Amino acid sequence: MQICVIGTGYVGLVTGACFAEFGLNVTCMDTDAKRIGKLEKGEVPFYEPGITELVAKGIRDNRLTFTTDIAKAVDDALVIFIAVGTPSRSDGSADLSYVEEVGRGIARHMTGYKVIATKSTVPVGTGETLRKVIKATQKKPIPFDIVSNPEFLREGSAIEDFMRPNRVVIGTDSAEATAIMKDLYRPLYLIETPIVITDIPTSEMIKYASNAFLATKVSFINEIANLCEKVGADVQAVAKGMGLDHRIGSKFLHAGPGFGGSCFPKDVAALIDTGERHGAEMRIAKAAAAANEQQKRAMVVKIKQALGGLQGKTVGVLGLSFKPNTNDLRESPALTIIEGLLKEGCAVRAHDPAALEEGTKLLPQITPCADPYETAEGSDALVLMTEWNQFRNLEFGRLRTLLRQPLLIDLRNVYEPERVAGMGFRYVSVGQPERTPKK
Ligand code: NAD
Repeated sequence: MQICVIGTGYVGLVTGACFAEFGLNVTCMDTDAKRIGKLEKGEVPFYEPGITELVAKGIRDNRLTFTTDIAKAVDDALVIFIAVGTPSRSDGSADLSYVEEVGRGIARHMTGYKVIATKSTVPVGTGETLRKVIKATQKKPIPFDIVSNPEFLREGSAIEDFMRPNRVVIGTDSAEATAIMKDLYRPLYLIETPIVITDIPTSEMIKYASNAFLATKVSFINEIANLCEKVGADVQAVAKGMGLDHRIGSKFLHAGPGFGGSCFPKDVAALIDTGERHGAEMRIAKAAAAANEQQKRAMVVKIKQALGGLQGKTVGVLGLSFKPNTNDLRESPALTIIEGLLKEGCAVRAHDPAALEEGTKLLPQITPCADPYETAEGSDALVLMTEWNQFRNLEFGRLRTLLRQPLLIDLRNVYEPERVAGMGFRYVSVGQPERTPKK
């Protein structure tokens, strides 16, 4: 079967490369000619483990091609996936202009029946809007079906998530489209992946409800962490004790500097906006978003208190991306926290295994460093911002000679507090009692 994927960002490219791996013929289309030019040569424009190899394999096997020509992409394909961005507008609502533009492009170039599936995260009602946009743009009526097929992959483990998802959600009102979509995902039947077949609005809602729920879990544990600090409890043990309850589960109960990334903040904002438009206030989502903003501010205060003021100090930051194994800086808490430090007259040295170049462009005041040790040199504290594996085994003896004082502020609770204190460091983290150096 021939399919096409429109938009070759994190979701579009992973979708295209993985479907090619499933044995389908895939055309990936993007309006960004530079990006397509690179992809044709097998160069992936972002960092994601395994994607370069999968794209190369798809190209080699003649199952994966790239184009900027929507007519070519649409013409051959039975199924068209839309995977373009749906960024936040200033009022929090999702900007659907890219999705609608693609809808018009498809309508202009389709010559036979198509299944048009949105992988982009789109608010409830978008499927219907897309149907209207396509019908209004078609020169003559040509049949098509709309499918909502939200994507749940996580950056950093995107290929594994796509190949072994917890579930696949298919929302449509057409039996024909259901059969075609199930056929596409046939390889997942072998690993008994649950397939949820539902209507379009329900499918669209599943994506927002899932992301808002996960974001709420993060904000909840962050608030518990802040209370732990006041009452002398340890959030790591609290989270473990909670997470062992099967009704709660241990995932997304890691206290830290707040959630970020291209999805949670924008999807929570869009859900709040949808609630407002329909007179159903999303109070819990609002609280999760507000607690998240507060958490990022609280991290600046935490660093300030640990250092006894920020003016004239230097902080070494480990990690800029919003999570490990990605170079994605969108809504990364690290950026907000660094901005807060800079505003208070603190100098910032920073290292990130994948996002340093991009991060330095966004924050030109920071000093980019080649590794954690260069970052520590002359710094008053080392702040672990993103839990890259590269930061899990730091040589504390070496760091001690480089830092002005042995202070580790671990905003991801990566380290065992007693171990760090045993290495002669003062250890400040999130929701755990501070440790003083043991030697
Ligand atoms: P992205 O910004 O990385 O990529 C979007 C791509 O679409 C860009 O390459 C852009 O050039 C292209 N594009 C824009 N307009 C176009 C047009 N008219 N025609 C063709 N291409 C066009 O975005 P992303 O992170 O892949 O996210 C895409 C969608 O998937 C969003 O709705 C997002 O919420 C959702 N999503 C993202 C993730 C994630 O982890 N990134 C996970 C699940 C869902």
